[in-house]
Amino acid sequence: LVKYYPVKKELLQIGKETQYVKAVNDVSFNLYEGETYGLVGESGCGKSTIGRTLVRLIEPTDGKALYNGKDLFELKGEGMRDMRQEIQMIFQDPYSSLNPRKRIGQIIEEPLIIHSIGNKKERTEIAMDILNKVGLQLDHYYRFPHELSGGQRQRIGLARALVVNPKIIIADEPVSALDVSIQSQVINLLQEIQEDLKLTYLFIAHDISVVRHISDRIGVMYLGHIVEEAPTDSLLATPLHPYTQALLSAVPLPNPKAKKERIILQGEIPSPLNPPSGCVFHTRCPLVMDVCKVDKPVMKEEKPNHFVACHLFN
Ligand code: SF4
Ligand code: MG
Repeated sequence: LVKYYPVKKELLQIGKETQYVKAVNDVSFNLYEGETYGLVGESGCGKSTIGRTLVRLIEPTDGKALYNGKDLFELKGEGMRDMRQEIQMIFQDPYSSLNPRKRIGQIIEEPLIIHSIGNKKERTEIAMDILNKVGLQLDHYYRFPHELSGGQRQRIGLARALVVNPKIIIADEPVSALDVSIQSQVINLLQEIQEDLKLTYLFIAHDISVVRHISDRIGVMYLGHIVEEAPTDSLLATPLHPYTQALLSAVPLPNPKAKKERIILQGEIPSPLNPPSGCVFHTRCPLVMDVCKVDKPVMKEEKPNHFVACHLFN
């Protein structure tokens, strides 16, 4: 997948050609049925762009997204409608997507109307059932969004996604706006619902400690690239990429014997308008070598199912 955003002409100095924010650069990964794939990286690394592209909220610049043999990016008409039912997205701030003048019941039933599912009575039953599934009392059906807490609103966002019986949920920072105590409740709920409904999750987060409990595998992104991908245990126990090592050094690990020395990265993330040559991480990597500035490292399977793109392993 490749996604470049053109930069508005008026933001550029006169005489320059159109420039592009290289948000996602040749990213490739698999999402297996029933698993949770955690996509982590600092804000601006391209992870949200990936999620939004997959549900066609934004169009890709290049690439394919094969789902049951069909390219999601080629879908039109009915195929597109089916996809929009099967792949649902939930967002960091569900409040902005909840119409303040509508009651929760209406909000949850809206996708059913869009996808022509059930009659009025059936839709109400489905909505009530979903409210129960996401752990909310039935009287929430008659309430308005402003009457709910952040955690409750996220449950409504989830209910709205679940109501059309999807197969895949793309969750973009679903708990980042919530208090830490509420975060784990919502993550536990997501996990219960996944088991119950046999869902597949793409879970996007900037905080590795949020995804590590729920993810079967984790992909670490930096500046539009996946730089490391591994089963969660393997990634946590033996992070290979210097960027992953820095991310993990900031996270308290349950195993007290694991060596812990905080790695502070120097400098800022470079602009995606003009990413560094060679390895995109070379301007901040504590282990940078000459080759890193010229040659782009390729993904290599260093241990079973544990991939890393770094010249230390090439
Ligand atoms: Fe660091 Fe070089 Fe590896 Fe990039 S390729 S992460 S600069 S050692
Ligand atoms: Mg984001």
